[in-house]
Amino acid sequence: MGFRIVLLGAPGAGKGTQAQRIAASRAIPHVSTGDIFRDHLQRNSDLAREIEPYMESGSLVPDELTCAIVARRLSESDCSHGYVLDGFPRSLEQAETLESLLGQRAEKLDVAFDLEVSDKEIVERLTARRMCPVCGAIYNLKYDPPRESEDRCSRNGCAGALIRRPDDTAETIRQRLAIFHETTEPIRKFYDERGILRTVVADNLMPEAVFVKFESVLNAMQAARRS
Ligand code: AMP
Repeated sequence: MGFRIVLLGAPGAGKGTQAQRIAASRAIPHVSTGDIFRDHLQRNSDLAREIEPYMESGSLVPDELTCAIVARRLSESDCSHGYVLDGFPRSLEQAETLESLLGQRAEKLDVAFDLEVSDKEIVERLTARRMCPVCGAIYNLKYDPPRESEDRCSRNGCAGALIRRPDDTAETIRQRLAIFHETTEPIRKFYDERGILRTVVADNLMPEAVFVKFESVLNAMQAARRS
């Protein structure tokens, strides 16, 4: 049995990067609500019109819609042995909905990681963030740059033209950080009360060093299961 993991943290804290690594090391899917929504926008699906105004302004897509999307994704067979949820829950309502969804299947989350980074560093990181629209790779020009050139993806010969996410503008970053601070405290408390909150401090650390911290918590949990 893998792990059911929630990854909390400010936009730009490195959730996506760490979630991709955890998913690969534990052989579980990476479920990112942001990626699912961006995929709808790109495909111009029926949902796209509904979610676009929220995403463009950096505000949250309504809980009901977001929870319905997550419920559908988690019922897919690849999620039956665990997953890393990235960018969800983002409100207390979402955390409660997730708990009751899992409760209906007699399941529980194993751990809620809180990835902590200061606001100052978040702003620095988001302005240096680039993503590959072809394969989804995430880079940071300062901490984790592509290997060959600043504007080309270097993953497995992909060579996609890197972009700045449209919501990574100074104005939107401020809006997203404000929402994050407003909504995150109750979620932290929610998981702390359930005894599954683990904080990982990531200020001034390269992604590899942050990943080592996640691995050590997960290895300890795995060892505890065996004993
Ligand atoms: P992210 O890639 O996680 O930063 O998400 C990008 C955008 O997608 C957010 O700014 C929101 O507009 C939307 N979004 C992603 N996850 C959620 C969520 N759990 N609840 C509401 N909106 C979300």
